[in-house]
Amino acid sequence: MEEEEEGKGGGERVLCDYCLQTASCNRKGAQEDLLICTDCQAKAHPSCMDYSSDLARRARRSPWQCIDCKTCCLCEDAGDPDAMLFCDACDKGYHMSCHSPVIEDKPTGKWVCSRCCQEIEADAPETTFCGSCVLMFCYRLRTGGCIDSPSVSGSSSWVTDVPNAADWSIDEVAQYFSNIGFIHQSEIFREQEIDGRSLLLLKRSDVLTGLSFKLGPALKIYSHVQQLQLRGQPVQ
Ligand SMILES: [Zn+2]
Ligand SMILES: [Zn+2]
Ligand SMILES: [Zn+2]
Ligand SMILES: [Zn+2]
Ligand SMILES: [Zn+2]
Repeated sequence: MEEEEEGKGGGERVLCDYCLQTASCNRKGAQEDLLICTDCQAKAHPSCMDYSSDLARRARRSPWQCIDCKTCCLCEDAGDPDAMLFCDACDKGYHMSCHSPVIEDKPTGKWVCSRCCQEIEADAPETTFCGSCVLMFCYRLRTGGCIDSPSVSGSSSWVTDVPNAADWSIDEVAQYFSNIGFIHQSEIFREQEIDGRSLLLLKRSDVLTGLSFKLGPALKIYSHVQQLQLRGQPVQ
């Protein structure tokens, strides 16, 4: 308990929940302050959650909530998770109906809140709005091309490198899902003894109903599973 009090900003004994290292050493061996969830005290290196450096910088500007605790930053309610969007730039949650303007259809790719759109525009006036994303700002346009080619609706994952999961152990599977933000769900993968080969054989129904995930995370997890399945076919 005491350890958590002085957490923010480089406390030596505070460990990242993902990699179990301190702020002085992330996975790449570099110094990186931990984000600490204001609700559950979960701690994480932004890089362990695959945050971009921009996202990490923005996430530090205000109290941070982990993926499990995230509430709508406008109504401060965690209800109706299926109608909650997470901004890919500031990591805040918004109900589609709370956001201004109201979002009618759930975005399938990257989504950035209107506040960040304004900020990003102000920061970098040369940024371009993506024609195909309409209300959504295609954040990646700055760094190289629209990546909104969503294969699965409901996915808000930020895919860069999809690893080959074929040889993963049960631990590696659990670690992967923990790393991408599904900390609780990763334990279920572990309990169900799902290794890389099993993972690549999972069907939609297995993920959505067989593993007792809530629908929101289940859809997102399935989209990750699909990407892994596309990347690496199981060895026969
Ligand atoms: Zn870490
Ligand atoms: Zn939390
Ligand atoms: Zn709300
Ligand atoms: Zn935002
Ligand atoms: Zn786009």
